[in-house]
Amino acid sequence: MALFNCPECNKVISDKAKLCVGCGAPVIIMTSKIIGTPIKIFNLEFTEYDFPSQMSWFYAKEACESLGHGWRLPTKNELDYFYNIYGIKGYSYNLYWSSSEGANDVAYYYDFAYGSMNSTSKNFTFYVRAVRDF
Ligand SMILES: [Zn+2]
Repeated sequence: MALFNCPECNKVISDKAKLCVGCGAPVIIMTSKIIGTPIKIFNLEFTEYDFPSQMSWFYAKEACESLGHGWRLPTKNELDYFYNIYGIKGYSYNLYWSSSEGANDVAYYYDFAYGSMNSTSKNFTFYVRAVRDF
């Protein structure tokens, strides 16, 4: 289960809910607001929008997979491809989780302010964008 801030009313809700408990917006519409018009690079496509809230690494993985149809958290090298071709394009000057894991229970994040990557505890909360192969 992943938790979101509802893009309509900003209340925290579960992706397993059919409707937002705050305003009644259907969760399926929120999913389409994240995917938008995917941004294609080589054989990859990235969602047009970030998830609306920062989250820990485990929630980040679940949130991406909850979009279904092969959506997943991108690897650090996929985020690097994106940055080197498009810069921040729709991302923000912030830190984003990658799926790439390191030793000692850390994972890599990508810094869209500097185009660089580093690793840290999976408990930190960063921004999240999903990718899939097509
Ligand atoms: Zn709502």
